[in-house]
Amino acid sequence: MIQLTLWSISPLLAALVALGAYMRISPKKRVPGMQALLALIVVVIFWCGCVFVQSVFVDTDIKRLATKLSYTAIHLFPITWFAFAICYTRRQMHLSRLSLNSLCLIPLISVGLAMTNEWHHLIWSSLERTSAHGSSGLLATFGAWYWVQLSFSYVIAVIATTILAYALAQTTSRIKPVLAVILAPVMVGGAHLFSISPLNPLPWFDLSSLGFAIAALMLDRGVLRYGILETIPVLRDRVLEKLTEGVILINHDGLIIDINSAALEILDANRGQLSNAQLDEYLEDFALTELVHHGRETLEVTLRGCTYDVTGSILDTTDPDSDVVLVFRDVTTRRQTEQALRNAQLELERLAHTDSLTGLHNRRLFMQRLREEAERVSRHQGCLSILLFDLDHFKQVNDRYGHDTGDHVLQSVAQAASEVKRVSDVTARIGGEEFALLLPETDREGAMRLAHRLRAAIESATTLAPDGEQVSVTASIGVATVSAHSQDPASALKLADAALYRAKNAGRNQVRRAEPA
Ligand code: GH3
Ligand code: MG
Ligand code: MG
Repeated sequence: MIQLTLWSISPLLAALVALGAYMRISPKKRVPGMQALLALIVVVIFWCGCVFVQSVFVDTDIKRLATKLSYTAIHLFPITWFAFAICYTRRQMHLSRLSLNSLCLIPLISVGLAMTNEWHHLIWSSLERTSAHGSSGLLATFGAWYWVQLSFSYVIAVIATTILAYALAQTTSRIKPVLAVILAPVMVGGAHLFSISPLNPLPWFDLSSLGFAIAALMLDRGVLRYGILETIPVLRDRVLEKLTEGVILINHDGLIIDINSAALEILDANRGQLSNAQLDEYLEDFALTELVHHGRETLEVTLRGCTYDVTGSILDTTDPDSDVVLVFRDVTTRRQTEQALRNAQLELERLAHTDSLTGLHNRRLFMQRLREEAERVSRHQGCLSILLFDLDHFKQVNDRYGHDTGDHVLQSVAQAASEVKRVSDVTARIGGEEFALLLPETDREGAMRLAHRLRAAIESATTLAPDGEQVSVTASIGVATVSAHSQDPASALKLADAALYRAKNAGRNQVRRAEPA
C-alpha cells in the first residue's frame, strides 16, 4: 500500500536541488576533488530516494529496508565530504593509504551491523511503525553503536569542513564562499541532530532532507557561482605565492577572485581592499578583451614607472563566461636595457657620421646625402647645388699661431657656415680645411647668393690666438648645380672642385661657379 504525505515532499525537493548541483559541477570533473563532490551528491540523491520510499510505502518491512539502506548512505556523507576536502586542497599526499582506508573501518562495521540489526539491535534497539496524522511512519530508538558511528561521522565532518574553510579563506578574499562551506554541513548536521533529539515534535520525520536541500543551495550560490572551485588552494600556496610574476584571477565581469602577493605589490593594494573590487579600478585603459578574446599574446602595461607584459588565459575555452588568469611579468629592466641599447646605437650612428673637431657631418655622410638628393632630383625634376670651399693659406695660420689655434679657427669657420646655411642644407667637413655644403632644391643663382654670403661670413669670423691677436681667415668657394638633365653627383663634385681651384687661382677669397660640362 502506498501513502502520499507532506513528508514525502522534502526528500524529493532535496534530490532535485542536488541534481541541479550535479549538472553544474559535472563539467568541472577534472578539477581536483570534484569527483568526490559528485560522489557526495550521488549519495545525497540515493539517500533522498530511500527516505522518499520509506515515507511513501506503508508496509513496515519496506520501510525498514529503506531505512537500513538510507543509513548505509549516511556513512558516506562525511567520508565523501572529507575526500572532497583533501583532494580539493591537495592534502591527500599528507595521508597514508592505511590511514585513508582505516577511515572506512567504522562505517563498514556500521553497515554490517545495520544489515544484521535484528540479531543484536546495536544500531536500532527498536524500529516500529507508528501512525500520525492519518499516515504511517517509522519510529526509531537507537542502540549503542549508533552513537559511536554518529560521533565518528561528526568528527570527520568537522575536520573536513575546517580544512576546506581554511583553504578557501586562503584562496579568496570573499567571505561568502567560506561561510557557505561552513554553514552547509552545519545545516545538515543541525537538521539531523534536531531530528533525533527529543525536541523533534515529528520523530518519524527526518528533517535532514530539508537540511540537504538548503546546504546544496548554499554551496551552489556561495561557492560554485564564483568559480572558486577551479582554483586549487594548495597549488596556490605552494606555487603562486612563490612566483615573482603577479597572478590575478578574474571572472568574466572583471571581478577579482584571487590574487597572489606579487600582484598585490604590482597593484599597490592589500587583500582587504580587493574584496569585491573590479580589475579596472586598478588598471585603467587595460584592454582586457583585446588580450583575451582577440588573440593578442601580451599587452604592455605601465604602472608607477614599471613596465609589465601581461598575458591572459581563459581557464575554460569552451565556456564564454569562464574565468581568466592574468600573469604580470616585470619587464622594466629589459625595456630600460633595450632603450639604452637603442640610444647607444643611435649615438654610434651619429658618431660615424660626425666630424669630431667641428661637430659638422663628415665626408661619408655628405657623400651619402649627395647621392640621395641627386637621386631625388633625377626622379622629381628638381635641382640641387654643391658648395665646396677651402681655407686660404691655412698652413700659414698653423705655422704662425700653432695647431691648436688652427683647430679653433676651423671650429669658428664651421660655426659661420652653420649660421649661413638653411635648415635643409647639409654642412660637412670633407677634408683637413676643406668643407662642403649640400643645398637641396637650390638653383645656380640661389647657390651663388649663398656662396657670397658664406664667403663674407668666413671672412668676418675671428678667433682669439693665445697671444691675444684676432685671427681671421678667408675661403675660396666653388659652386656647381645638379639638375635632372645635367650631370651626375660625382661629376658635379669634380666641377665644383675645379671651380674652387679657379677661385684660388683668381687670387683666393673668391666665389666661382662651375662652367657647364
Ligand atoms: P691654399 O690657399 O692653397 O689652400 O693653402 P693652404 O695652406 O690652405 O693649403 P695646404 O693644402 O698646403 O695646407 C692645408 C693645411 O691645413 C695643412 C695642414 O696643416 C692644415 N690642416 C689640415 N687639417 C688640419 C686640422 O685638422 N687642424 C689644423 N690645425 N690644421 C689642419
Ligand atoms: Mg687651403
Ligand atoms: Mg686644402
